[in-house]
Parts: sequence; C-alpha cells; structure tokens
Amino acid sequence: MVKNYEVTGEQSGISAEDMELINKHSLKKLTPDEIFTFSVILCDNEIDRDFEKFSDESLRELETLFVGKTGILNHSNRSEDQSCRTYKTELITDKDKKTSLGEPYKYLKAWCYTVRSSKNADFIKDIESGIKKEVSVSCNFSEKVCSICGEGICSHRAGQYYGDGFCYKTIRGVTDAYEWSFVAVPAQRGAGVTKSASKNAVKEQIEKAKEEKELSFAALFRNEMKERAKKGFSLVLPELESRVAEEIINLLTAENLSALTNAFDRKTKKMFPVISQFAGTDKKQNDTNSQFKF
Ligand SMILES: [Zn+2]
Repeated sequence: MVKNYEVTGEQSGISAEDMELINKHSLKKLTPDEIFTFSVILCDNEIDRDFEKFSDESLRELETLFVGKTGILNHSNRSEDQSCRTYKTELITDKDKKTSLGEPYKYLKAWCYTVRSSKNADFIKDIESGIKKEVSVSCNFSEKVCSICGEGICSHRAGQYYGDGFCYKTIRGVTDAYEWSFVAVPAQRGAGVTKSASKNAVKEQIEKAKEEKELSFAALFRNEMKERAKKGFSLVLPELESRVAEEIINLLTAENLSALTNAFDRKTKKMFPVISQFAGTDKKQNDTNSQFKF
C-alpha cells in the first residue's frame, strides 16, 4: 500500500543527539558537515484520497517501524535510488487542527539524513528548493475496518453515505513499513499534487457525497409524491388516461406537485370516508377543495 504525504521543508542545525542517532545507521562515523538533514511528514490520521485513514494505533506502529528505513525515488527498488535514511520519528498531535472527522490532527514526522556528495548534490538542491515535496509511504497492514459496520470485509463502499454515516476504512494492525519515497509530481495544477490540496479535495468529496445523498433524498421524495399523484388521478379522475396523468405530473414543479397530492388526499378522504377514518382525522376534510378544480 502506498500513501502520499509531503516534505515539511525544515532544515535546522544538527544536534549532538541527532548525530548519535544518525551514526547508529552508518558504518563510518559521520560529522555534521558531511551530512544534510531534513524532515518529512510520512503519514497522518486524516482520511485520504482513497477514503482510508490510519488508526492512532497504526500510526504508533509506524512510528517505530520507520526508524532506519530509507527514503527513495518513486518507490524504485534500485539501490542507487536509496537517497536518504530515516533516523528519528515522532508522532505529533496538533491540538489546534482538526481532521475532517473532527479529531485532533496527528501526524508522523520523520527526520532523515543524506550524505553530502557530488552524487547527492542535485537531490539536496531539490529538497532545499522545494521541488522534491511529495512523499508517499509503503507499508503492510492486517486489516481495513469499515466505519459503517465495523467489519473488515463488507459491501459498504468507501466515500459514500449510508443514512447519516460516511463510509471510510480505518487501517489497523500495521505489520511492516518498507520505505518512503519521493514521488513524481504531476504537472497539472489542482491534480491533488500536495497533501494540503488533496486534503481539500477529500473534504470537497465528502461534501459532494453529502450533497448527492441529499439530492437522492429529494429524488426519492419526489418519486413518492409522483406515485401519490398518479394514485390520486386514478381515484378522482379515472376517465383520464394514466399516460396523460403521468405527463401532467412530470410537468409540475415540486411545490405544485406537493399541492396537487395534498388536494388529492383531501378529495379522496371525502370520497372514501372509510379510508379516511383509518387514516385518522383530518381537520381540513371540510375544505372547499378550491385548489382542486378541473
Ligand atoms: Zn461495512
């Protein structure tokens, strides 16, 4: 599985503590002037473009697993693409920032180093200038749990609403972290290039799904009213061909359709008082039905 995040672009002085951590991974003892360090956000607890999110527990697992792992280019397996190594990670909670689920924003920050060499000069320049920005992580996990039913395997589709519940999948039980990678950034603007853009895209998609859900409720309501109107026509005006009734109904605005079905309801209750007794009392039963005249 591959997930995309971005470089924070932070470059500060290297502490003795950090040098000690870095030297755990190198065969030769490195000095601060020999290396270049930077930090990246590897992953977080936000719902991503695939409508998946890491559980807090899985982020903690990744915090441990990513130490010592390499950062590479485009998830390539070639050893010459192994451009840097992660020497420190920290799971950070940003209390001022909320995820789209309203939870405090948590992200896994990683500190990495690479050796300053002629081979790495362009790579370092690209990080410093912000060209190498987007990062994706590669890891393995045991299950994805549905937000609707809590099951691992189900028929609910991520990114859709079921009633008031938004379906997304939570990644649990991370078993391994392989590497993280700088990924090629697409040229088109607004193509979900950076994580901040893609987060907005996710929010937009959630909003869109919400709107679609509301639209489908409106469509359901309209269909129900159409059926009631058809029934009304057949009871009150059986002489009218059902095809014509249907054509009339289809021309009506939602407001007029509602007025017509209400008028039909009142009329049929008058025509068939037995049904209206079952249906309960209606104060408007003695109305003049002025809305319903043909
Ligand atoms: Zn489900």
